[in-house]
Amino acid sequence: MNRVANRSSIALLLAVILLGGMCLFLAEYLLNAGDWVIFEGNPHVYNGVNIGCGVITDRSGEVLLSATEKRSYADDASLRKATIHWLGDRYGYISAPAVTHYAPDMAGFDLLNGLYGYSGTGGEAEMTISGEVQRAALEAMGKKKGTVAVYNYRTGEILCAVSTPTYDPDNVPDIDEDDEKYEGIYLNRFTQTTYVPGSVFKLVTTAAALDTLKNAEDIEFRCDGVYEMSGGKVKCTGEHGTIDLKKALQKSCNCYFAQLTEVLGADTLEKYVNKLQITEPVRFDGITTARGSFSVEGASAQQLAWAGIGQYLDTVNPCRYMTFMGVIAGGGEAAQPYIVASAGTGMFGGYEAQKSSTGRLLDKDTAAALAKLMRNNVKKQYGDDNFPGLTVCAKSGTAEVGGDKKPNATFAGFCADEEYPLAFFVAVEDAGAGAKTCVPILSEVLAACKEMMDSE
Ligand SMILES: [Zn+2]
Repeated sequence: MNRVANRSSIALLLAVILLGGMCLFLAEYLLNAGDWVIFEGNPHVYNGVNIGCGVITDRSGEVLLSATEKRSYADDASLRKATIHWLGDRYGYISAPAVTHYAPDMAGFDLLNGLYGYSGTGGEAEMTISGEVQRAALEAMGKKKGTVAVYNYRTGEILCAVSTPTYDPDNVPDIDEDDEKYEGIYLNRFTQTTYVPGSVFKLVTTAAALDTLKNAEDIEFRCDGVYEMSGGKVKCTGEHGTIDLKKALQKSCNCYFAQLTEVLGADTLEKYVNKLQITEPVRFDGITTARGSFSVEGASAQQLAWAGIGQYLDTVNPCRYMTFMGVIAGGGEAAQPYIVASAGTGMFGGYEAQKSSTGRLLDKDTAAALAKLMRNNVKKQYGDDNFPGLTVCAKSGTAEVGGDKKPNATFAGFCADEEYPLAFFVAVEDAGAGAKTCVPILSEVLAACKEMMDSE
């Protein structure tokens, strides 16, 4: 009797293990089948290390990459250079997560039908970027390192995102990453890096002030060029005298913002960094951007002041900060950025991008007040002449990075025009003054965006 009982419990145990294994397999299959089909060893979908299953175009249908047989990039060298950080290279040094993410759609795969649409030639994907604007941005950046990005804050389409340094995949130079010229060449600086923001961060501090302090725009502080506080002093770029918030943002007065940050306090500033999602990664098209940083725990009064000015331990990701500009422009909420408009087999359809919102991150009145202050910056400081036909609102930054490097130049803002809902972020490394470096670049890029939008 005992032996029978033993045997049946062993049989039962085996049955349970078998059933468990089957469930595990089924779950794995449901979750991962897409990945298995497009795994890097599958010669139907890949050639070499990158996606090889179709044609990828820009928003106007210009071919950026034809990956049906051998990877062949755009005909034009500057377009190849301007898009390689999105398409990937032939050897896998530069990853292309957005394109890889839609490989199952391009290969025509789903769980029910398997590789239903696979014809041997693969499918099509259309990116939201414009080849024309990418070229203009690359040319405007010249030999400078950094990133320039523009997106439509109403639809979410990324129109321009260039990362430099870059290279031509059809004419690969001898790259030594220790050579300063090629520093971080394989990185997509728009998605994979963070920058010390410098004074563009004063917009976060200003948002916190407008939201939490009574009549914030009337608050005055005095600037004598230096502001003494416990832990050390904060230096300004000039002696601005007694000024209000509008003038302080226009002149980017450090003494004013040191005192404003003191009034706000660490908790409020931190609360607004979180509320506005300034350090949060942005997720789109299989990409998770780099996370920014902000920490004022145990900071001295002086360190807190620098944190409110966009220095100390502050870092921001370009895509995230661009989205924040969209949020201000959109009255407190914006469309989430994305870069792949559609991906499919042509015959069977596939993926089609849907607009999604950031949700409300900022009070409507606060967003409007902030936009007005940023508009004043361009009118009085950066010059409307640089942006013909556009109503630009912006803030510059000159971020000290230490060592023997010149400051990073940053510039963030948006166009307030109904027909050109464009938000932007520019970062140029080892450059110098923010506006002086970035405005000429942005001027070219926004003009190219405007021309492209007018022709669509
Ligand atoms: Zn000042």
